[in-house]
Amino acid sequence: MALIENSLSEENREVRDQAAAFVSDVVEPRAEAIESSNEFPRDVMEAAAEYDLLGILLPEEYGGLDSDFVSYCLAVEQIAQASGAVAESIQGHTFAALPVAQFGTEAQCEQYLEPMIAGEQIGSMLLTEPGAGSSPTELETRAEHRDGGYVLSGEKSFGTNAGVADVHLVVARVDPTPEDSHGVSVLLAPSADDVDGFEFERRDFMGMRGHVTGDSTMDSVTVGEDALLGEVGQGFRIAMGTIDMARTGLAAIGTGIAQAAFDRAADYAGQREQGGQAVGNYQAVQVLVAEMDAKLDSARHLTFNSAASIAAGEGNTRRSSKAKFVASHTAEFVTRNAMQIYGGKGYQKDLPLERYYRDAKILSIIGGTSEIQKTTVAREALGL
Ligand SMILES: Cc1cc2nc3c(=O)[nH]c(=O)nc-3n(C[C@H](O)[C@H](O)[C@H](O)COP(=O)(O)OP(=O)(O)OC[C@H]3O[C@@H](n4cnc5c(N)ncnc54)[C@H](O)[C@@H]3O)c2cc1C
Repeated sequence: MALIENSLSEENREVRDQAAAFVSDVVEPRAEAIESSNEFPRDVMEAAAEYDLLGILLPEEYGGLDSDFVSYCLAVEQIAQASGAVAESIQGHTFAALPVAQFGTEAQCEQYLEPMIAGEQIGSMLLTEPGAGSSPTELETRAEHRDGGYVLSGEKSFGTNAGVADVHLVVARVDPTPEDSHGVSVLLAPSADDVDGFEFERRDFMGMRGHVTGDSTMDSVTVGEDALLGEVGQGFRIAMGTIDMARTGLAAIGTGIAQAAFDRAADYAGQREQGGQAVGNYQAVQVLVAEMDAKLDSARHLTFNSAASIAAGEGNTRRSSKAKFVASHTAEFVTRNAMQIYGGKGYQKDLPLERYYRDAKILSIIGGTSEIQKTTVAREALGL
């Protein structure tokens, strides 16, 4: 990885070291317990804050590091090697905090950013709805401006950290709907426990166990005038303004999960003997290892190419979409074949191989499916 390694700043390396320390001190000892209990690891999120990992991209005045996007990707990649669920929870939290930093008033930044960076409050972005997934322009949730506040009504699907979050960024239509910007706005809603009419139902998923995602129903949820983030009609810009970063962050998580699976499989191929020799001596296994290794390198280079361009203020959708779908595919390919190299043991629940495989699957769906990423790349490549 000479190209990536040589391009890192001192600060990038420091953040990566912090993430590595967090992983060995906190995440690794807890990863299996998080998996088996499926409980949201709030204490691990608080610990992430102690290692300065919840405010990597956020302003120093609120306790953040104000570091660049390469630092963020290095950190989540490290964390994903130990726990996809912790990395995904941090990702969901980060992409709820960033819009507040970018569009919030001074009062909103003071109210939310400090506790979010300190891990005292968890954030969640609620964009997707039952009828609006890949086409987020078809949102139906409404926010009625009434009596010096807003009244939210509608249904939101999924939403990483929804339900355990203390602040939800709800993308909704405010009447009268402005002509431009797809007519949506972002409202800050508190924990479902702290306001009437906000119900949350957690869903059970194949992987990323311990992270919390589910369906939110808002039935006349009243929030104050100061809950509006940015301006009325700016919602699409707010929600999609960080999309290149979010997709690249998910690519870094995929790279991390794939790296963990690859390291274990390569180690096992050298140790496990069958027919009088290590299984890694068989050409069929070597073909798997070579393909896994090459795909992993490609995923990491595309991810850090996108991350470095974002850090330089030159991020673009073609790069982030390419990184996302290649890294998602790589994570699935490498984790599946790592299980294959492990043989029957790869299928056992007491080893993390099958967890890596289940965790990897979600990456080709969230933050825009691989089909959407490919359409985006093709459109840009063809100038359509
Ligand atoms: C664990 C988890 C966490 C999530 N976290 C969040 C979150 O934090 N915030 C949030 O708002 N949402 C979140 N989501 C929602 C996620 O982003 C959506 O599930 C995703 O965008 C796909 O939308 P959908 O499920 O409605 O699928 P659909 O849009 O219904 O897609 C179904 C299929 O059709 C294909 N398809 C649809 N439209 C097109 C098209 N135009 N071209 C080609 N193919 C197309 C898709 O690729 C897919 O294969 C999360 C989902 C999960 C499962």
